[in-house]
Amino acid sequence: MAKRFYSCMVVPDANHRLHRRRMPARLLHAFGVIGVISFLVSVALGFAYTQMAFKVADFDKLQAENNELKIETKNLEISAQELGSRVTALETVSEKLTKVMESDVFARPFAKPNITVAGGSRENQATATLSSDSLRNNVALLLDRTNDLQSHFKLLEEVTQKRAVAIRQTPTIWPLQGPIVSRFGSRPDPYTGDAEMHLGLDIVGNYGSAVKAPADGEVVYANRKSDYGNLIILNHGNGLTTRYGHLNGFNVHVGQRIQKGEVIAGVGMTGRATAPHLHYEVRQYDRPVNPQLYLPRG
Ligand SMILES: [Zn+2]
Repeated sequence: MAKRFYSCMVVPDANHRLHRRRMPARLLHAFGVIGVISFLVSVALGFAYTQMAFKVADFDKLQAENNELKIETKNLEISAQELGSRVTALETVSEKLTKVMESDVFARPFAKPNITVAGGSRENQATATLSSDSLRNNVALLLDRTNDLQSHFKLLEEVTQKRAVAIRQTPTIWPLQGPIVSRFGSRPDPYTGDAEMHLGLDIVGNYGSAVKAPADGEVVYANRKSDYGNLIILNHGNGLTTRYGHLNGFNVHVGQRIQKGEVIAGVGMTGRATAPHLHYEVRQYDRPVNPQLYLPRG
C-alpha cells in the first residue's frame, strides 16, 4: 500500500518562491495523538493541582484552628487552676467558719452533729493533680469540690440561723442597768443576818425605772408571790426561765410573747424589799444559776 503524504504549502508575497513541504500522514497523526494526550494530561494535572491547592488551603485552615484550640485549651487549663485556687481558698474559709461555730456557745449545740469540714485532705490532692490530669478530670473534680462546698455552706447557713435564734432566746442583756447590791450565792439574810442562799442578783434602780426582757420569751407568771412581791416569770424555751421580783406593777400579761429588750415592768419594792431594786433570777430547768454567767460585764 502506498504511503500517504500531506503537503504543506507556504505562500509568501509575489516576489518570493512558493514553499512546499511534504509530510507523511502517519507523522501528522502521531502529532495529533500526542497533542490530544498532552491536552488531556494538562487538564488532569490542572485539576489535580487545583484540588491539591484546595487541600493545602484546608490544611492551613485546620492547622490555624488547631493552634487556636491548643491556645484555648491552655487558657482553660490556666482558668481551671485559678478556679482550683479559689475553691481551695473557699474551703479554708469554710473550715475556719466551722471552727468558729464549734467554739461558739450559741452555735455549738446545733453545729456539732451536722458540721463536717469540707475539703481537708482533698484540697492538697486537687491542687497537686491539676497540672498533670486531663482538663476534663480537673473540671469534674472542681465540680465535686464545689458541690461539697455548697452543701457545707448550706449547713453553716442553717447553723447561723439557729444561732441567731439561740442568742435571741438567751438572757444576754441586763434587765436593768445599775449597781449590784447582792450577788448570786450565799449571803447574810438582810433581815435576820443568818446565812442564806441568794438565788439571783439584786440590781438597784430608781423606783419605776424600766425593767427589760433580757431575751425573747413568753410571760408565764405575772402576779404577787410572797417574798418576791410583784413577780414576772418569762419562759425562753430550752428549759430556761427568768424571774423579776419586787416590781412596781405589770406592763405585760400571762401568755404574752415578749421581745428581747422590751419593757415588762418598773422597779419597785413590793414583797421582802428594804429599798427599790430588781431581784433578777435565771433558772435552767427550774434550778437557779448565776445570771452573770450569761451577761456581759457591766
Ligand atoms: Zn434578791
